[in-house]
Amino acid sequence: MKAAFAHVSLITFDLDDTLWPCHAVIHAAEAECYAWLQEQAPRLTARFTPGQLREHRLAWGSSHPGIAHDLTEVRLRSLAALLDDAGYGVELAHAASDVFRAARNRVTPYSEVIDALAVLRRRYTLVSVTNGNSQIEHTPLRASFDHSLTAAEVGAAKPDPAIFHRASHQSGIPISSFLHVGDDPVRDVQAARDLGMSTVWVNREARSWPDEMVIADLEVSTLSALVDILID
Ligand SMILES: [Mg+2]
Repeated sequence: MKAAFAHVSLITFDLDDTLWPCHAVIHAAEAECYAWLQEQAPRLTARFTPGQLREHRLAWGSSHPGIAHDLTEVRLRSLAALLDDAGYGVELAHAASDVFRAARNRVTPYSEVIDALAVLRRRYTLVSVTNGNSQIEHTPLRASFDHSLTAAEVGAAKPDPAIFHRASHQSGIPISSFLHVGDDPVRDVQAARDLGMSTVWVNREARSWPDEMVIADLEVSTLSALVDILID
């Protein structure tokens, strides 16, 4: 199997649900932000439940496709509009966004991740590529990558290829030498394969691969399995 990856010199990693569990962190960040709003903007929280704020945000993103890839900006502008309606200033939306982001960065990587990345980095250039709005420099993986890219900064979310092209430009390594590692069949595996990259599907929850899609070059349940295959 190792021979199949002999051409690889750079590995890109998805973050959410690949290197850390995501759902509980976002749920906690939403709750913390809403509790903060109850204190700071009670007229807003009297009108909107957390679910209604979320619905407004999703609708706002759908009706503004030009920034839909930037979840932080969508959250900020949606909230700013509702706060304005309730008679509050835009500065409160920025402060609420800061509360959310601080909590969103309180991720806990899966247990093997930090050590596995350290081993892989001795041989490969490592780049994180996320559609999400965590800030890698404020997470436990702040020192694990050579470069870290987000959909917000490259202007498009995976499966759009922009983030992979940016990784190639920054590193000076051609995409044909990339291996991408991620949990999402479409945004990670198919997106990377369409660019000619090698692909690894991280399947931590024993999910079934979608019948209609071409499988990844390799499926693993942890990064330790990937290290075993790539490193002697
Ligand atoms: Mg993911």
